[in-house]
Amino acid sequence: MSFESLGLMPELLRAVREQGYETPTPIQAQAIPIVLEGRDLMGRAQTGTGKTAGFTLPLLQRLAPHASTSASPARHPIRALILTPTRELAMQVEESVRTYGRHIPLRSTTIFGGVNINPQTKALRAGVEILVATPGRLLDHQQQGNLNFSQLEVVILDEADRMLDMGFIRDIRKIIALLPTQRQTLLFSATFTDEIKQLAGAFLKNPALVEVTPRNTAAELVRQIVHPVDRERKRALLAHLIQSRGLEQVLVFTRTKHGANRLSEQLDKDGISSMAIHGNKSQPQRIKALEEFKKGSVRVLVATDIAARGLDIDQLPHVVNYELPQVPEDYIHRIGRTGRAGSEGEAFSLVCVDEHKLLRDIEKLLRKDLPKQVVTGYAPDPSIPAEPIENGRQGGRVGGGRPGGRRPGGNGASSPRSRPGVRGK
Ligand code: AMP
Repeated sequence: MSFESLGLMPELLRAVREQGYETPTPIQAQAIPIVLEGRDLMGRAQTGTGKTAGFTLPLLQRLAPHASTSASPARHPIRALILTPTRELAMQVEESVRTYGRHIPLRSTTIFGGVNINPQTKALRAGVEILVATPGRLLDHQQQGNLNFSQLEVVILDEADRMLDMGFIRDIRKIIALLPTQRQTLLFSATFTDEIKQLAGAFLKNPALVEVTPRNTAAELVRQIVHPVDRERKRALLAHLIQSRGLEQVLVFTRTKHGANRLSEQLDKDGISSMAIHGNKSQPQRIKALEEFKKGSVRVLVATDIAARGLDIDQLPHVVNYELPQVPEDYIHRIGRTGRAGSEGEAFSLVCVDEHKLLRDIEKLLRKDLPKQVVTGYAPDPSIPAEPIENGRQGGRVGGGRPGGRRPGGNGASSPRSRPGVRGK
């Protein structure tokens, strides 16, 4: 199975190639042809299955025929709406829209609460074809008269079960009532509960059903383990694990740029060659770090989530969460760097008392508990109290907004795109 055989247009095939994807994931293989046909679809798939590309690619193709380079707002009516439960997911989905749509002149923007409404209003007035929105703020814009859905062709409910869990059902009903009845509707959900089926019954017309078993997700393929440890002893434990297990090509995640630098310097002092890669590093510095890592002359690459998004590396033997991410979905993206396509992969997380809530959020998203294993000599001291976590969100992500809606060092055209083939042994 190839992306070509799914009937995608050359502009999209090019973007997919630039992402380094070789074969469609099961959800992509099933969903893309159905969405291209214009049918409604109900998809059961979790984060980590590639579902975002599964709906974004065919959506872009459906909208491409009337894409326009004109500056006139009238040439850029709202043609697609993607509803998500959280601002983080909205940002990630819109990033995918931009990444896969980079060779097609369609505009997209995110709409979510907790940030100033004015820049969003301005973006809407300028004209935008693809809106990625959380329900509450979308309705605020509706009340302010900023939205015209008369040209809408496609609506996508992403993570519909989470939207229901978060109490968005009434908002969703209100939003759907604003849309033309003649439209394509896609609904994605990790579970098909009765409530979800009811929702689908109300809004979808004769939908095709697509399901992927959770086994296909990175989260299932990767061996994951949590090592509880004290905050101050994480570095020693990491060095111990790398040395005692003879680990090579280890990708280590920290929450902050500062943390990445500090850890990388300390590992070097411990005799473990390491480099940090994050948003403050110049492009040549990043490329150099990546090359050294791929060659094996640098054993550990310490990265922040944002920097890692622009890196074309996967199928690494080991990923380490030195610090858990603030956003649970980032955990899935991190561990997706290992164990792809059935290859063996291992992700371990060093978790201190401050991070228990983050761990619970991740386990909730995964719908399973992760095995915990105390490493001999590194048992946490139960008398150490939890401390608030240093704000790990970076630059543009504070408060969920980022200028221009793009992450620094994100999946932009400027990322190094060479195929690494870094899987060691
Ligand atoms: P998602 O489930 O949409 O959140 O995607 C999970 C991860 O899989 C993301 O990091 C994508 O970049 C990646 N991904 C999506 N499709 C493919 C593919 N066909 N091959 C390899 N990686 C993919």
